[in-house]
Amino acid sequence: MVSFTLQEDLQMLRDTAREFAEKELVPNAAAWDEERRFPREAVMKAAELGFLGMSIPEEYGGNRMGNLALCVLLEEINRGCASTGVTVSVHNSLFCSPLVKFGTEEQKRRYLPKMATGETLGAYCLSEAGAGSDAAGLSCAAVRDGGDWVLNGAKLWITTGSEADVFIIFARTGEHRTRGISAFLVEKAFEGFGVGKKEEKLGIRASPTTEILLQDCRVPGENLLGEEGQGFKIALDTLDGGRLGIAAQSLGIGRACLEASIRYAKERKQFGREIGQFQAIQWKLADMATNLEAARLLTWKAAARRDEGLPCTKESAMAKLAASRTCNAAAREAVQIHGGAGYTREFPVERYMRDARITEIYEGVTDIQRLVISRHLMA
Ligand SMILES: Cc1cc2nc3c(=O)[nH]c(=O)nc-3n(C[C@H](O)[C@H](O)[C@H](O)COP(=O)(O)OP(=O)(O)OC[C@H]3O[C@@H](n4cnc5c(N)ncnc54)[C@H](O)[C@@H]3O)c2cc1C
Repeated sequence: MVSFTLQEDLQMLRDTAREFAEKELVPNAAAWDEERRFPREAVMKAAELGFLGMSIPEEYGGNRMGNLALCVLLEEINRGCASTGVTVSVHNSLFCSPLVKFGTEEQKRRYLPKMATGETLGAYCLSEAGAGSDAAGLSCAAVRDGGDWVLNGAKLWITTGSEADVFIIFARTGEHRTRGISAFLVEKAFEGFGVGKKEEKLGIRASPTTEILLQDCRVPGENLLGEEGQGFKIALDTLDGGRLGIAAQSLGIGRACLEASIRYAKERKQFGREIGQFQAIQWKLADMATNLEAARLLTWKAAARRDEGLPCTKESAMAKLAASRTCNAAAREAVQIHGGAGYTREFPVERYMRDARITEIYEGVTDIQRLVISRHLMA
């Protein structure tokens, strides 16, 4: 039997996350966005609530509630602030999760306990200037030198780049397009590691996106993550989970759009009545709510599959595809329902619309999700 009701512990998690978002994020998100200020305090409070240890087993200080729980959590956080949302998402699903799955016991003991408490933050470095959708085209190189590896190259678009402490960096260790890629755990304190340009962005402006520069960056041999040549497999497996985080982010931004629209439709009067009494507005709200519900079911289904250890590449791509498009449609309608007011900074829907755009771009653009899905259909 399939149950569509969240278990009690997930309901509790959702309520705690909602309260956290209402208190810590909703009142501050606009200012953080305006000032491009990383919400460090909020992230630390999230850590106190256990939100940074969602992928980490208890023995390393986390609560390992899993992917479905992470999606429930991320929807609530992103409803309040998409910049905080992506920080928590990347930390859990793009850093901690692959470390738990592919790391050695020693690597897990060294890094995970501090990740669970927020003392250190994680980042994921796959993209480069010449390798975006075509991630296997990366050219950042790692060469053995005695027991160490020496990394050279530049990574682009790295979320939390200027704030993170440990980075999973994918680099070329062989000529084969995919089997010639390996993954490394690189600390910001390592010699030759640098943070480059910080991007000026349309949305999620409180989340720093930076270049990562590697100039003869010396990485100890024991910091190879997984086996040599296994990097691309790790990168793709990690993205199956990461895309669920972005689907959940889309749900959160989309729900914020819906809630703001309902509020405004009940307040704003034209032609002698609240605009919410016009059927045209009611239909928009009904479509937004229905599409969000459908995207949520896809997201939860894919997350549940990943928690059960079942393949979820197609399901995860479907969830991200549907949720990110739904989020963007909801943001467009929310601005429309607000009329001229929606086009100003007086109302949050302007920010939601800017934040929504990224959900169709990172962790694989919309057309790459369609490519992944269609490959599965025709295989
Ligand atoms: C704010 C932000 C944060 C990010 N965070 C991270 C991060 O933490 N770590 C990380 O590694 N990366 C990160 N990225 C990178 C992100 O994943 C890439 O931007 C994304 O994968 C797209 O790559 P690209 O920008 O090079 O676009 P391109 O690949 O150049 O795509 C440009 C256009 O071409 C189209 N296109 C490309 N290939 C195909 C194809 N085969 N079929 C059809 N259309 C195609 C795309 O749909 C798109 O419309 C981030 C990006 C941004 C903007």
